[in-house]
Amino acid sequence: MIEKANKFLKKNILIDTHIDLPSRLLLNMEDISKITPSGDFDLARAKKGGLSGAFAAVYVPVSLEESGALEFAVKQIELMERIVGEHSDIAGFASDIISLKLNHKNNLFSFILALENGAPLSGKLENLYYFFDMGIRYLTLAHSRNNHICDSSYDDSEKWSGLSDFGIELIQEMNKIGMIIDVSHVSDKTFYDVLKYSKLPIAATHSSCRHFTPDWERNMSDEMIKDLAKNGGVIQINFGSDFLREDILNRSRNEKKELNEILQRYSIASGSIEAEEIRNEYRASNPKVFATISDVANHIDHVVNLVGIDYVGIGSDYDGLGDQLPEGLKDVSSYPNLIVELFNRGYSEEDMKKICSGNFIRVWKANEQARKINS
Ligand SMILES: [Zn+2]
Repeated sequence: MIEKANKFLKKNILIDTHIDLPSRLLLNMEDISKITPSGDFDLARAKKGGLSGAFAAVYVPVSLEESGALEFAVKQIELMERIVGEHSDIAGFASDIISLKLNHKNNLFSFILALENGAPLSGKLENLYYFFDMGIRYLTLAHSRNNHICDSSYDDSEKWSGLSDFGIELIQEMNKIGMIIDVSHVSDKTFYDVLKYSKLPIAATHSSCRHFTPDWERNMSDEMIKDLAKNGGVIQINFGSDFLREDILNRSRNEKKELNEILQRYSIASGSIEAEEIRNEYRASNPKVFATISDVANHIDHVVNLVGIDYVGIGSDYDGLGDQLPEGLKDVSSYPNLIVELFNRGYSEEDMKKICSGNFIRVWKANEQARKINS
């Protein structure tokens, strides 16, 4: 079966819509043409895994919302330009679907840039145009806190009850210029505001199904997935064990709570060596549990059972999850394991093409076409 998966991946395009590579390399530069000692992604393992291209998320932490966000984003874009320049024999940028397909034909890995967190826009549409010109093709509206655009799923407070006035203006402008709207990380109200104002299909580039993690707003509810399908959009399944299974999510929440209590009790700074030691001790008596390939496939099945085959894809969140990747899907060399699982569950080659890239490309194409009409 693994030969069938490898053969399939040789022929067809597999895109992962969310890999947190740029910020990882900014912190810790490594030669990604070889297998890197740290991280989940490099071009050597991507080749082994049959990955044709990835959206490289230029990630901006919420702490930079007030100042420094734009500079931090630009630094990562410049770094990606340098890396792709250095490895032009094996990789290239793809700022449109044609270049993605050409790269695939020419055996080049495609990097597509994305911006995770709209903080660097600072309320100015000029910044949106600037990022589009730099090659950014989707924008994740918010990250772990509410920002000037909208409310985040992780924020307990409601600043805007969805989109801000600028957020509404931004959605309409993104539609005009053909920048894909990413609703991963946003609150439910923001999601529904986006659906209300967007005339084009949208994407959740790295979210899973809330059905398996009830009440966790970071994943999408069945109702939302149905409404996303009506919009012609797509949900790209996140590989994080916390995203995939409620029991694991609860364990992680407990671990976090208990560790915080210990650190507070002894006035130990988080991130310190002592804190690290305490965590290791904790883990020795409370070993981590990981999801499985089958859990990821369950999420794909769930979307397919709800709305059909045309609205689901893969957005692993590699390089952004830390130590919570499923057994058998630990890095970008392991996609064939998932392909085998899906073939075993009865998905046809046509279905698999849609999951691996076709569904997301449909959303991208609709956005590209809108740009053509409006320019
Ligand atoms: Zn994210």
